[in-house]
Amino acid sequence: MDSQQLMELSKKHMWLPFTQMTDYERDPLIIESADGVILKDIDGKEYLDGYSSLWLNVHGHSKKELNDAIKEQLDKIAHSTLLGAANVPSILLAKKLVDIAPSDLTRVFYSDSGATAVEIAVKMAYQYWENKGIKGKTKFVTLSNGYHGDTVGTMSVGSIELYHKVYTSLLFDALVIPYPVIYRHSSQDEEVVKEESIQKLRKLFEERHEEIAGMTVEPIMQGAGGMNVMPKGYLKEVEQLCREFNILLIADEVATGFGRTGKMFSVEHEDVKPDLMTVAKGLTGGYLPVAATLATEEIYNAFYGEYSEMKTFFHGHSYTGNQLGCAVALANLEIFEKENLVEKTNEKAKYITELLEEVSELENVGDVRQHGLMCGIELVEDKKTKQSFPSEQRIGYHATLKMRELSMLTRPVGRDTIVFMPPLTTTKEQLKEMVDILKQGIILVTESLDD
Ligand code: PLP
Repeated sequence: MDSQQLMELSKKHMWLPFTQMTDYERDPLIIESADGVILKDIDGKEYLDGYSSLWLNVHGHSKKELNDAIKEQLDKIAHSTLLGAANVPSILLAKKLVDIAPSDLTRVFYSDSGATAVEIAVKMAYQYWENKGIKGKTKFVTLSNGYHGDTVGTMSVGSIELYHKVYTSLLFDALVIPYPVIYRHSSQDEEVVKEESIQKLRKLFEERHEEIAGMTVEPIMQGAGGMNVMPKGYLKEVEQLCREFNILLIADEVATGFGRTGKMFSVEHEDVKPDLMTVAKGLTGGYLPVAATLATEEIYNAFYGEYSEMKTFFHGHSYTGNQLGCAVALANLEIFEKENLVEKTNEKAKYITELLEEVSELENVGDVRQHGLMCGIELVEDKKTKQSFPSEQRIGYHATLKMRELSMLTRPVGRDTIVFMPPLTTTKEQLKEMVDILKQGIILVTESLDD
């Protein structure tokens, strides 16, 4: 089938996630192959992968070791159910995850997307208190603009306003504490911003801790809600408050995990030890849909013992613990060790900081936020007043379209914030090329406003 026919078919039958289909019809794109950090469309045009194919591709595409791991596993078995029967790669991966986990997380519950991993953590936390015989701890705390997935449960414990507006009566209410957004605060003193949010959290915990089962948090950097970075020490104080008030801390490492922020997991930056931790995206190096919820033995024990309905954890999907996915995840983690990838990521992060300096000087760049290889560039109409562009102008979206014309793919999040999250193995030359395109895209879109 030629590319024109494929285009027509995609417009006729596809319904893409988080996409206004009229946008797609105007600017369709069909990816056919990839190598390293380069993706190729059906017409042979190449694009740099500026967002790791939605923040998950770690080593670039077509990595030989990962391809081989899948092929080797395929010759043994592709999939068998994990309901009541473990399989070899899932056991080995569980051991590996427990070994690299930042705290006493000893149990691994598999699923197949970041959203389900978080949904599982929420259900576990809820049922944990019930099983312990502690009644009434049923609510969850989250930070404003938190994103933990798009299922009904994870939208509920997230706080993206738009989702709550669209799906109002479908969602349950979480207790929302304002995120300590440094850029948008009247004080630019991190300590002041931190304390203000922490005091609100303390007050909430003091008043309602008996109702609160857990708190979900994206460690240090918030992703889809706007690429915000917490003030230093904030996460540690959240952990301390959770301990003080007997509230489970759920660290959502779906976006930040696997070296992305310069540590294997972002909680390690502040030596935070969550009770539950969710991982997905980079777990398989961006190859196959495997996710996991890691729990402490203390939580596991609340589900363990003589048979009773409540001792069963009611969750599990057809493809949970898929062998191909677990095999490639194991190979992915081996590469981390062999190539000393986390350390190298720190060097690259420093280089990106230098490169982004020029971007931050652009007239319509309000703020550049970075945590390792996770960056957000917020565009504003007025740099002095920090006034955002009118939302109907969709500047972030149009900027990424320009970048696409210039041969790099990425997406905006929040209010006109461009995501820059290249694969960890992107070379310095490629990083420079990507940041040049980022800059050019922003210049072109803002210049076009003057026309
Ligand atoms: N949690 C966080 C922090 C995320 O960034 C995302 C996705 O971007 C999710 C959960 C949901 O993951 P998935 O898209 O795999 O369901």
